[in-house]
Amino acid sequence: MVISPNFSWQEIDKLFLDMDGTLLDKYFDDYFWEQFVPETYAKKNGIDFTSAKTVLMNTYRSVESTLVWTDLDYWAERLGLDIPHLKKEIDHLVQIRPHVLPFLDHMKAMGKDLYLITNAHPKALAVKMDKVNIRGYFKQIICSQDVGVAKEQVEFWDRLQQLLPYDRTRTIFADDTENVLFSAKEYGIRHLVHIAKPSSKLATKYSTHFPSIASFGELPS
Ligand SMILES: [Mg+2]
Repeated sequence: MVISPNFSWQEIDKLFLDMDGTLLDKYFDDYFWEQFVPETYAKKNGIDFTSAKTVLMNTYRSVESTLVWTDLDYWAERLGLDIPHLKKEIDHLVQIRPHVLPFLDHMKAMGKDLYLITNAHPKALAVKMDKVNIRGYFKQIICSQDVGVAKEQVEFWDRLQQLLPYDRTRTIFADDTENVLFSAKEYGIRHLVHIAKPSSKLATKYSTHFPSIASFGELPS
């Protein structure tokens, strides 16, 4: 059963918005890690694409949901590839998701405070913001690297208070990753929204645990 968001904007002061898969099309990241990096790695090491992909997917999985996973410098060293440069090579795939800009405009007009809260590495953030300049919408942009742990860890939400004090009952947080939403819930963030269509190339997949929307057009106005 799909859970629809049920709140009014009067209950909300701050919006915490994830970047990849929430504001931006996650197809960029999926293509990058699952296609472009394996291709490049295969060429560099003189192996075939399938073997490269198998090795890489196992390597990714070993650090999933940790800060290491998001650390571009770690990957550059571990894989021997210039990861930030490779990201730039395909930056034409960085796209804002449908309904995001009207939603951000609407929230600004309502006087809400917007924050971008991302696990992305500062270098990955820079590649994306160079391409789609939406920095101006946000009072602050926080990378997990600044906090010291990934959003999947409950501790993240507590540490975040030091960088940006917030009332967990009057803040709404939107993210496409259920494990991140679970940790925010455990910390006590009251209003949570799951993004059910993070990638333009994948089918919509609603959460059964959180209010779930395919696009921001489905939130109350
Ligand atoms: Mg995301």
